[in-house]
Amino acid sequence: MQSKNWIGGEWITPSGSEMTVQNPSRTAEEIGIVHFSDRSHVLAAEQAARDAQKQWAQMTGAARGEILYQMAAALESHADELARLASREMGKQIGEMRGEVARGVSLLRYYAGEGMRANGNVIPSADTNVLQFTRRVPLGVVAVITPWNFPVAIPIWKIAPALILGNSVIWKPAENSSLTATRLAELFAETRLPAGVLNLVIGRGKEVGAALTEEAAVDAVSFTGSSATGRQVAIACAGRNIKYQTEMGGKNAAVVLADADLDKTVPILLSGAFKSAGQKCTATSRIIAEKAIYEKLAERLQQAISSCLAGDALDPAAYLGPVASVEQYEKVNKYMGVANEEARLVAQSPATDIAEQGYFIRPTIVEGVEASHPLVQQEVFGPLAVMLPADDFTEAVELCNQTVYGLSASLFTRDLAKAHLFLERAQAGMVRVNQETAGVEYQAPFGGMKQSSSHTREQGQAALEFYSEVKTCAIKYAW
Ligand code: NAD
Repeated sequence: MQSKNWIGGEWITPSGSEMTVQNPSRTAEEIGIVHFSDRSHVLAAEQAARDAQKQWAQMTGAARGEILYQMAAALESHADELARLASREMGKQIGEMRGEVARGVSLLRYYAGEGMRANGNVIPSADTNVLQFTRRVPLGVVAVITPWNFPVAIPIWKIAPALILGNSVIWKPAENSSLTATRLAELFAETRLPAGVLNLVIGRGKEVGAALTEEAAVDAVSFTGSSATGRQVAIACAGRNIKYQTEMGGKNAAVVLADADLDKTVPILLSGAFKSAGQKCTATSRIIAEKAIYEKLAERLQQAISSCLAGDALDPAAYLGPVASVEQYEKVNKYMGVANEEARLVAQSPATDIAEQGYFIRPTIVEGVEASHPLVQQEVFGPLAVMLPADDFTEAVELCNQTVYGLSASLFTRDLAKAHLFLERAQAGMVRVNQETAGVEYQAPFGGMKQSSSHTREQGQAALEFYSEVKTCAIKYAW
């Protein structure tokens, strides 16, 4: 398969540099070629998106919604094919990848329905015979910049709310998920989506991403990716006074209190830490346990981790696939090296036969480092979690909050009072009790505090606020 751009309804293959895509489960297998764009493609997409937006915004919400329903149907009817392509391109295990595509379908339907829902409030006026109300208006052309770790759901949770509100979109996916992006755009091209309303520009972040945020006359940027890139995006957008949203990294803690039900807690901890090979922004990367239960929990994790076996991403029985790329493999292995030298091993899954064929890293839990240690403070983005002991609930919450990130946090307990106190005190945008740090539902707001986010929220109704501006309208209808 070859990547291509979709600009103004035309398919264009850039003639510049390219990259051969290897299957991270079996690096000897080449699955396609990604063709990188330059700034001229970004500017062409900007023009196409600008030309299409006015008419798109003038359509009724109901009519736009019908097209989003068509997009959902097109995706649903090719769900398995797209999931398999993404598994082969970036290594997410097929069961998880199918779940992600299903989420994409649900998101499209959810936002399709928004075309028929109220979009403002009537506000009483202090004057006589005045009707005062608000209405949402689109921003115009929105740039959507996405990472590789959710190659289908994240683009859709940005594109769908942007479109239903009457914006047009220029989408730049991550380099490592460009084939999946191309196929997704091909599916959307089968619908009645007017030319230029959604544009796909495949390219490198430093070139195409930067041209989108710094040069193209876009009205807003919605970015998900690393904190370092997010900061650059925010600076560029603030300098131009355009609306931006940056969803970035995490160092999410699961806190286990002495009264937790370990039979239920242990599988949830492992799933939070190791599904998607730990490459979720909401993955559990710190396990903070009350001392009274610490040793017992460590033992239980040791027993249970033996079932977390890595395998080919297309193997339905694999617990996790490989990490996504050679860059990921090298970065995560660097942290594994630090863990080997500076921490103590708590638990590690057995090696599997496939290990030599791709970018496989064994799920690992370590302990014995201070709260300030890089393994506790930096986002690893791989299947490596660190355990920390806490004297009691109060210290556990302090440890949970001792990070620059604030994306997601979980508590495991049977104590209702502590559950409520945790929801109040944990500094994270998504706080959960007896649940994984990952897995927030699409109809609820998604986003982080502190360095994890620009403090806006995605998904649910919250996304509608980002992709629109509110106009305050007033009519004096008699005097
Ligand atoms: P990344 O920052 O390297 O890349 C993200 C996107 O930005 C890619 O499309 C990339 O090409 C583009 N980009 C790179 N440089 C750019 C620049 N100078 N200007 C504009 N765009 C540029 O991140 P990644 O490695 O693809 O993704 C992993 C990161 O994403 C992790 O840190 C993870 O926590 C984070 N993430 C966050 C969330 C969330 O909702 N908070 C969700 C998923 C992933």
